[in-house]
Amino acid sequence: MNFATRVLHGTSSIDRVTGASSIPIYQASTFHQFDIDQPGEYDYARSGNPTRQALEEMIAHLEGGKYGFAFASGMAAVSSVFLLFSAGDHLVVAEDVYGGTYRVLTNILSRLGVQVTFVDTTDPEAVQAAIQSNTRGLYLETPSNPTLKVTDLALLCSLARDKGLLTIVDNTFLTPYYQRPLELGADIVVHSATKFIGGHSDVVAGLVATRDERLGKQLYAIQNGFGSILGVQDCWLVMRGLKTLKTRLDVSSQSAAAIARWLDAHPLVDRVYYTGLPEHQGHYLQTRQASGHGAVLSFDLGSRERVKILLDAVKLPLVAVSLGAVESILSYPAQMSHASMPPEERRQRGITDGLLRLSVGLEDVDDLIADLEQALAATARYASANNTSSKSCGNW
Ligand SMILES: *Cc1c(COP(=O)(O)O)cnc(C)c1O
Repeated sequence: MNFATRVLHGTSSIDRVTGASSIPIYQASTFHQFDIDQPGEYDYARSGNPTRQALEEMIAHLEGGKYGFAFASGMAAVSSVFLLFSAGDHLVVAEDVYGGTYRVLTNILSRLGVQVTFVDTTDPEAVQAAIQSNTRGLYLETPSNPTLKVTDLALLCSLARDKGLLTIVDNTFLTPYYQRPLELGADIVVHSATKFIGGHSDVVAGLVATRDERLGKQLYAIQNGFGSILGVQDCWLVMRGLKTLKTRLDVSSQSAAAIARWLDAHPLVDRVYYTGLPEHQGHYLQTRQASGHGAVLSFDLGSRERVKILLDAVKLPLVAVSLGAVESILSYPAQMSHASMPPEERRQRGITDGLLRLSVGLEDVDDLIADLEQALAATARYASANNTSSKSCGNW
């Protein structure tokens, strides 16, 4: 079965009891035991609930795993996975990791004695060099945010396996439709289902999948013990969103590619980051390990002044944090997702004061381009009014 079919019929998508066309919201915290000598499948909803279970089976299936888990947010999923490690353990983590992941590692897990080294995981030698005798895990995110650097998953997973490390991959940006890390050798996949999987900017959720039985049991014990489960209403919303994941991503990614090409040719744009552009440094690797380039791109306008004018002038995209929704979302990393990073470090990573990230939604692509065109024109008027060059030097 292909993905479009699997996302609808891969696991039971109808209610086993009534045949209802969507899995019902079992709004129950506890389950009556008809015979205490023969306990039922469910007893208490933190430990298991049929609505949540349906979602968990679906993410396991789509990622090519066996065990799935739904959490109260992407960060609850990420943090729960980190609880696999113990005081004295060391992790090697992608330096471009999601800001919340960076914060939980440096502010909370560090207090519990888990040590971390952040490295540029696009450089396998740097990863190799960071591995110590107490290293237990490798944590990756590809493409990275917001400059979309691509990490070689198969290569790093096999390197980690040789050293006995667990590999964990945050697959939020591409989803299992475009990239399946477990099939490339990863042990655990994590998601912010708040983004493309939910897809409608109306729910905060996290998912985890693995195919390893021992890890599945450990993750279950953490989910049940720590207790940051996803509520049943939100499970239902995520399943509702998942049904159209493939169709949404087809359209959004096609539009993202068209917008990236258009921006790339635009004289008022210094630089565009999109793995679908052949000149992007990760283009060929991405083409090899993923079946698509996704719906997120970044572009650099050269200055904060021009960013400000553009954000005031655009009419269609939300100006907001987050990504992966039916509506386009324009984010300003320097003041949003990466605000807490020291300015010098931001600049080194290409997160300049002129950089914007666009998550492309389902609007008509010509309307999106027209909106961006009029907003870019507004920045040109500012530039000529201030008698400055509108095109600064992009450094390819
Ligand atoms: C949003 C995001 C997270 C965190 O997820 P929440 O649902 O916001 O807790 C983790 N990783 C990536 C790549 C994200 O974009």
